[in-house]
Amino acid sequence: MSARGIIHIDLDAFYASVEQLRHPELRNRPVIVGGADAGDGKAHLARGVVSAASYEVREYGVRSAMPLRTALRLCPHAVVVPVDFAAYRAASSSVFAIAREYTPLIEPLSLDEAYLDVTGSVLRFGLAAHIAAEMRDRILAECGLHASFGVASCKTVAKVASELRKPRGFVVVEPGDEAAFLAPLPLRALPGLGPATEEGLRSGFGITTLGQLAGLQLEALQRRVGQVHGRSVWERARGIDSSPVVLPGRPRSISREETFFSDVDWRPALHERLGTLSADVGARLRKGGWTARTVTIKVRYADFTTISRQVSLPDPTAADSDIRDAGLGLFEAAWSGAKIRLLGVGVSSLEEAAQLDLFTRPNAERLDRTMDALRARFGSAAIRRGAGRDLRDLDWRGDDLRSPS
Ligand SMILES: [Mg+2]
Repeated sequence: MSARGIIHIDLDAFYASVEQLRHPELRNRPVIVGGADAGDGKAHLARGVVSAASYEVREYGVRSAMPLRTALRLCPHAVVVPVDFAAYRAASSSVFAIAREYTPLIEPLSLDEAYLDVTGSVLRFGLAAHIAAEMRDRILAECGLHASFGVASCKTVAKVASELRKPRGFVVVEPGDEAAFLAPLPLRALPGLGPATEEGLRSGFGITTLGQLAGLQLEALQRRVGQVHGRSVWERARGIDSSPVVLPGRPRSISREETFFSDVDWRPALHERLGTLSADVGARLRKGGWTARTVTIKVRYADFTTISRQVSLPDPTAADSDIRDAGLGLFEAAWSGAKIRLLGVGVSSLEEAAQLDLFTRPNAERLDRTMDALRARFGSAAIRRGAGRDLRDLDWRGDDLRSPS
């Protein structure tokens, strides 16, 4: 059996690069993407966090998830631009449209990262490394974006390889060389090996590299870090990983949440937001061809106390109005009246939507589908039901209503 050809692509400083691409005056300058739009295309700085940082600003120690204020203390001349997921989604789909010309087997990990299985494409397009190089050149020429590539016989090694020389990395690990490639790398380089396991391995066995991990007795390792996790890291440290590239399927849940521009306790505004968030969740449900049985809301108060409430519906639905009505009911039962910082709406217990025809499909959902079609033709900005301009979809990877923190 010949080896598989797996490519891991990770676009470099993706959000910041998209901003530099469409705002040429930002090129080669320290750019921070983060914060809501203050209404004039500029970011509101008071409460935002860094969503992405260009390489120019990383030199100052600016990192993702850092408060914008801290970031600006480190690099006062940085340019802060508000997050615009619509633009990043569009850039992402043009990149992965190129990838799709080489293989249908693409497992997206986020907007800027994916695994590709090109094993079946080799006869037509050449070796995996050749395919990756062609993709790299086309993504740069056609999308203006740099990416890092790892090419190997399995997902674990491909991912480690693309991480190794970011940005603009291009690392190929030949079949048979996996263990030797991984051996000198630190434990932390292995995907899924977190700080706790790393510390346990260092204190328990005095080891720091993947080669040393691969050399441990499996049983001793499993006693230390658990049966399943022990076997997984031990095998993968040797470059053994048969996990397939998985096409995206039905998510477990779909949610949308937003942090307000300033804390809100005005009921009509909160109801309107719930409606908008519900409509977004509903649109994503219908786009996926799913229905949901459970509706969840999440409320974070100004003091960061966070609650979530959920309810099961009598019938599965994909209608905005059903999600909104359930969400409003939960909200009214739960809200203390205090000022709210963040509001979220989610659905779970997803099912494939029954193939109802137009006449049996519930009325509300028919209307929603008509609206979806109009939005698809004329753009979502044209047909939004009163969304405020500071309403931003912050939960961009968001297939899970994050647990209350
Ligand atoms: Mg990236």
